[in-house]
Amino acid sequence: MRKDIDMTYFKKCLEERLAGIMDGQEAKKGKAPVELDQARVGRLSRMDAMQQHAISQAAYNLADLERQRIQSALGRMLADEYGYCVICGEEIAEGRLRFDPSALTCIACAQKTEAR
Ligand SMILES: [Zn+2]
Repeated sequence: MRKDIDMTYFKKCLEERLAGIMDGQEAKKGKAPVELDQARVGRLSRMDAMQQHAISQAAYNLADLERQRIQSALGRMLADEYGYCVICGEEIAEGRLRFDPSALTCIACAQKTEAR
């Protein structure tokens, strides 16, 4: 376990972000996927409605991906593996974790993955 970083701080960050995402997803779930109520059909064509649905779906998927990243980071915290790169096992720089507490790789490995 990392002694050089404030685990409580990162745990709080992750939990707050996770709660925010869950709230957002819960709010969206209540809505019909493609709204076609009379008031909107006049101004909004079905194509527009479909497009809006696609956009909100994409946002939902993005949020879902982040939720998975955060949950996996929290899981690594429980396993005392938080803060170590999942690829090379090196410590992840604290600055990187502050920027993205759900980061799973060190900067070097992240750059290698992106360059692929
Ligand atoms: Zn690495």
